Amino acid sequence: MEIRQSCPACGSRNALKLYSSPFSVDPLDRHLKVYYGEHYQPEMLANGSFILERCNSCTLVFQKWVPNSELLNSLYGKWLSSSQLRPELPADHKLATSRDGQEVLMIASVVQKRPEDLQLLDYGMGWGYWGRAAIAVGVKSIFGFDLAAERMEEAAAKGITAIELDQVPNGTIDFINTEQVFEHLVDPFGVLQSLAPKLNVNGILKISVPKANDLQRRLAIADWDAPKYSKNSLHSVHPLEHVNCWSARSVLAMAKRLGLVEQSRPFQSYYSFIGKNLGFPAPKDLLKGLARPIYHRYSRNNLYLWLRRG
Ligand SMILES: [Zn+2]
Repeated sequence: MEIRQSCPACGSRNALKLYSSPFSVDPLDRHLKVYYGEHYQPEMLANGSFILERCNSCTLVFQKWVPNSELLNSLYGKWLSSSQLRPELPADHKLATSRDGQEVLMIASVVQKRPEDLQLLDYGMGWGYWGRAAIAVGVKSIFGFDLAAERMEEAAAKGITAIELDQVPNGTIDFINTEQVFEHLVDPFGVLQSLAPKLNVNGILKISVPKANDLQRRLAIADWDAPKYSKNSLHSVHPLEHVNCWSARSVLAMAKRLGLVEQSRPFQSYYSFIGKNLGFPAPKDLLKGLARPIYHRYSRNNLYLWLRRG
């Protein structure tokens, strides 16, 4: 494992320790054994410890010890492999009216382009659902990147240009999607630094991550097995995986170092999906779509921000 000597968002060396335990001591040890099952290799964590700190400057909560590249490969390639099996694929006509399809139409409205003229990038795309939803609402050009080769292949087969980041031309992208990505990154500032130059003059970068709500109360209870979204859940600081736990303030402090600022979203842009000739949304997608401005602003479980050049 590797140690972080400063805040990975703002660079400050001034932090407060919130929680500390060796990985090999209960309740953490018991949780990790159950969570990772037969693939777990505790010896790979032996030189590290589970230490959570909160940056006194930007409020980012971060894990002090993070996986090195060897551990990342084992963690995401082997330990989690059984839970990362290719999920059931939705029909593409449903994707057009899904949450992701609605979001792409909103993007088109805000950057004032037709969907077919958008140039998109999905960074950490997983199986490429977001890109497929974009294609389903008319987008012609979308780049996507994921660490896993099998996901890159799957995305390419569905019409996404699966590509390494350094091959994406600078200054060309209208919108970069990062959905549930920045909480995992060992060097989030470094990744943002390599993504930002890809944006065109009016380009937008989205960061959507789990949010910490009354984290100190939850850490005092230390119920590592509490289910995601439950009252005592520690999902937002899950050991080894969610190595950064963001607030709006910490995202904006990181963004500021690169000259990026928050981009607001006009209320009416949320409803760009209404009246499009893409079929009628499923009732749950319609209801969620109608409530989304409120969810994006007030969700207790997720933080959703758009950034642009200042
Ligand atoms: Zn900080």
